[in-house]
Amino acid sequence: MLNIEEIYKDAGAYLEGHFLLSSGKHSQYYLQSAKVLENPKTAELLAKALAEMIQKSGIEIDTVCSPALGGILAGYELARALGARFIFTERVEKVMTLRRGFEVQPGEKILICEDIITTGGSALEAAKAVEALGGEVVAYAALANRGFCKREGSDKEAKPECKLPGNVPFFALDDFEFEIYEPQNCPLCREGSEAYKPGSRGN
Ligand code: ZN
Repeated sequence: MLNIEEIYKDAGAYLEGHFLLSSGKHSQYYLQSAKVLENPKTAELLAKALAEMIQKSGIEIDTVCSPALGGILAGYELARALGARFIFTERVEKVMTLRRGFEVQPGEKILICEDIITTGGSALEAAKAVEALGGEVVAYAALANRGFCKREGSDKEAKPECKLPGNVPFFALDDFEFEIYEPQNCPLCREGSEAYKPGSRGN
């Protein structure tokens, strides 16, 4: 069994600070998956472990689809490990869209892959984009679960913030559970520091 926390820490991808997340919430920790996936060998190792879990479930996947930008590396490696096709969605004027000539056939079995699933908002938007074209979303996957959604094989229930549909399996290698705060309730803000977007200060 892979130790995901150790892999993130070893890669310098488990950051401590005062972060503004894409959801608008604040957190003391941030997982910078790009730092883990900058090593293709590590990316391959993680994707193979995830593919094994999915294959054991018996769910067949034609295509892996990731929301840009965060999910692309993880999704591409997972598609390779599954022997599946890979496509990605991207936002056009805030709407998650399939571009670049990517097509989806009616009934095509699609897995939506992210690097990390927090509430699953972007993953769900990507799912809607491929479903609108007739694709069938049969699973979700991420390298790690931030602890809001219920992953396969875990006895921890989903929290109300989780946006993934409960009737579609979600595969992840491990859970990371650290607190996120509404800005008005953030203890780091109360101590006087300012939240910043990960990546904006060289991380
Ligand atoms: Zn804060």
